[in-house]
Amino acid sequence: MAGFHVRSVLVTGSNRGIGLELIKRFIGKLNPPEVIFATCRDPEGVRAQELKNLASKHPNVVILQLEATDSASIKSAAKKAEAHLGGTGLNLLINNAGIMPPSTLESATPEDMLSVYNTNVVGPLLVTQAFLPLLKKAAQGSNQKGMSCSKAAIVNISTVLGSIEKTPETFSFVPVVSYRCSKAALNMLTKCQSMGYKQDGILCTALHPGWVKTELGNFQPNVQADLTVDESVSGLMKVICDLSEKHHGILVSWEGNTLPW
Ligand code: NDP
Repeated sequence: MAGFHVRSVLVTGSNRGIGLELIKRFIGKLNPPEVIFATCRDPEGVRAQELKNLASKHPNVVILQLEATDSASIKSAAKKAEAHLGGTGLNLLINNAGIMPPSTLESATPEDMLSVYNTNVVGPLLVTQAFLPLLKKAAQGSNQKGMSCSKAAIVNISTVLGSIEKTPETFSFVPVVSYRCSKAALNMLTKCQSMGYKQDGILCTALHPGWVKTELGNFQPNVQADLTVDESVSGLMKVICDLSEKHHGILVSWEGNTLPW
């Protein structure tokens, strides 16, 4: 991790779970980013209190309102970020916000399918579109060779449950059909972004955080997820620091292993 320095990072869905822990880890780095944009949909709500406490102690944390299903909210967040960056670009965009409602082949409804797609796929698409000029600016302003998160990168938080090849191993564990379909689409979006933004020098990677003890991960009463948030995000931070062009357009686990699409 030596020499790895992200000047600016933005994490969506950062008021709890994996997103909040990512913010804490960036704050705690030996060479923390100069700007950490922590977005959440309701900065004034009780669920943002921990994030607000962090921001009050760390002036490099800037909370931005961002609802991933609302393009006006996303555009407004991008404008505020641009003003805050004062002419510099954004190095690292982490599309982390996501939902996983219960959904089986029998119970899935059009509303369920579309709402999950909207949050988990359309959200990252729109957020990336809005922040792309700032990512390009970071890539253009960098003298680093190759691709990295300290230059310019889009990291989409996906899951092995979106891997079509791995579905025979994971389906009986938890069906969550709408979620699986949305994350398979997010994987495709990541691949498309990797094709589209290659010439801009923007690294595009999907990450699987493991099965983590968060509200989303604790979907079954009496069954504990494998990993604490601390364990998962320790792995994710190491992977993020190590990402390079060899990870462009692939799905990588919190342990750094390549997973099949
Ligand atoms: P949590 O449920 O703990 O947190 C989800 C976060 O996403 C919250 O901050 C929530 O905000 C935010 N969010 C949800 N919908 C929207 C929206 N429409 N706009 C903006 N923000 C939104 O989940 P995790 O931390 O576990 O999940 C984070 C990511 O990791 C997700 O993409 C998930 O799919 C992925 N993941 C998680 C795994 C796990 O085991 N936990 C496994 C594999 C992948 P609010 O508080 O306002 O609801």
